[in-house]
Amino acid sequence: MIQIPEWVFEFHGHRCPAMPIGYRAGLAAMKKLGVERASNKELYLICENGPSHATACFLDGVMAATGCTYGKGNAEKLNHGKNAITLIDQKTNRAVRVTMVKEFQKKGLASEFVELRRQKVEPKDIPPEVLNPLLENILKANDEELFIVSEIFQSDHKPPKGTFNWYECDICSEIVFENTTKMVNGKPVCVPCFEKL
Ligand SMILES: [Zn+2]
Ligand SMILES: [Zn+2]
Repeated sequence: MIQIPEWVFEFHGHRCPAMPIGYRAGLAAMKKLGVERASNKELYLICENGPSHATACFLDGVMAATGCTYGKGNAEKLNHGKNAITLIDQKTNRAVRVTMVKEFQKKGLASEFVELRRQKVEPKDIPPEVLNPLLENILKANDEELFIVSEIFQSDHKPPKGTFNWYECDICSEIVFENTTKMVNGKPVCVPCFEKL
């Protein structure tokens, strides 16, 4: 049985089934690639879920397991409405895509938990007798019951380049980093000010 560290639930904010599935998806991808959790930007995550839907909590679990986070800039979300991820080893560009076994996903979507969520019951208000068996099922399952893990492939994804260079916006005077700054008549302008021009 997989253990999810308590800090992950605290970070996520509530107990639910989708976050732990995401955590396990991240672990499954790392296992296939034979890599450790990223402390810096060793890994890059492309998550296909969002912008907002049932089981979108999945992404928080993936980020916690892989160390690919929005803050570090080694995660992105495609907003394709799917619980699927691609994880890339940035050193070698070896990548793997993990999707869910459809039968398992369908069972989850037909669960009482999701039915209560559909009726707008918040996860924290869903009784433990509904949540716990579901959660245990997820933590006990084999990877093969939960996920389809692709063969390793070479990724041609180009991660965004980091920058330490910055300007002061010529209009609002706030500090803005180079890779988003627009140049207007040779003067640096931030995106929101640029859009108001
Ligand atoms: Zn959740
Ligand atoms: Zn500005």
